[in-house]
Amino acid sequence: MKINTKVIHGYPMTDKYTGSSSIPIYQSSTYSQTNIEEKYKYIYSRFSNPSRDSLSDAICAIENAQYAEMFSSGMAAISAILLNFSQGDHIVACKSIYGGSFQLMTEFLPRYGISVSFVDATDPLNYANAINEHTKAFYIETPSNPTLQITDLKSVISIAKKNNLITICDNTFMTPLLSDVLSLGIDFSINSATKFINGHSDVILGTVATNNERYAEMLHKSAVAIGSIAAPFDSWLTMRGLKSMAMRVERSSENAQKLAEHLEKHSKVKHVFYPGLTSHPNHQIHMSQSKNGGMVVSFDLDNYDNVKTFLDAVRIPLVAVSLGGIESIISYPRIMSHACLSEEERLVQGVTEGLLRFSVGCEDIDDIIVDIDNALAQIK
Ligand code: PLP
Repeated sequence: MKINTKVIHGYPMTDKYTGSSSIPIYQSSTYSQTNIEEKYKYIYSRFSNPSRDSLSDAICAIENAQYAEMFSSGMAAISAILLNFSQGDHIVACKSIYGGSFQLMTEFLPRYGISVSFVDATDPLNYANAINEHTKAFYIETPSNPTLQITDLKSVISIAKKNNLITICDNTFMTPLLSDVLSLGIDFSINSATKFINGHSDVILGTVATNNERYAEMLHKSAVAIGSIAAPFDSWLTMRGLKSMAMRVERSSENAQKLAEHLEKHSKVKHVFYPGLTSHPNHQIHMSQSKNGGMVVSFDLDNYDNVKTFLDAVRIPLVAVSLGGIESIISYPRIMSHACLSEEERLVQGVTEGLLRFSVGCEDIDDIIVDIDNALAQIK
């Protein structure tokens, strides 16, 4: 089944009881047990819920996965995995990483005796060199948020396998449609479905997919015990969004490529970060593990004054936190996605005062380019 068909028909998409074309929002916390000796599939919605299960089937389809667990946010999904490590365990993670994940790994995990070393993930050897006798896992984000650094998945997975380590990949920027990380050998594929999977900036939800039965059981147990489960309404909205995901991703990534090429030639833009550009240092590696450069372009306007002038002048994109909506969204990572880091740490990660992150939507790209050019023209 090809992808445009799969996102619509690759999983049970009608209600099995009524034939309803949209699986209902089962807004129920508990379920009648008419015979207490019988074993029921649904007993309490923290354990399972039909709307959430339907989304889970859809995520399995697009991830080419056997199992998927739905969480109340991308961060809940990440936490559910990481809280399964134990006191004394060590994880190696990429240095360029979403601010919330960095905060979890530096402010929370150490309190439970779990340590994390951050490495420059653009060289797989750095992952290898950071392994110690307590290392249990590699945590990867590629392309990274917001500087779009690339990890060579095949090499890092091969190092992990040789050392018997678990691999965890936050695939939010590529989505399973552009990078099938489980087929490459990743153990846990994470997505903040808040972004491109739902795609309408109206839901917070996280997904984890795996092909390992033991890991799936562990994830489900964590979701139940921690209680960070996706709500029925959010699951329903995400199912609805997912059905148009292939079209959105195709359109947004084509737009992003055009925008990146345009910005790269613009005199007011100091640098463009986009793995679909041949000038990106890891373009070849990225294209070997992804279908295209993705939907997010970051660029540097050199200083805060230029950023402020530009953001005050831009008209079409939403200036906001987040990404992955059908509408274009521009974020200023320094005070948005990476606000929880110290200025020193931000600079280590390349989050400079001139850096903007552009999640390219499905608008007509010519309109976006005119708008961006007008805004750039205001910079002296
Ligand atoms: N991972 C990445 C790469 C993100 O960009 C984000 C949020 O921006 C998250 C995880 C967290 O997702 P959520 O906001 O759904 O918790």
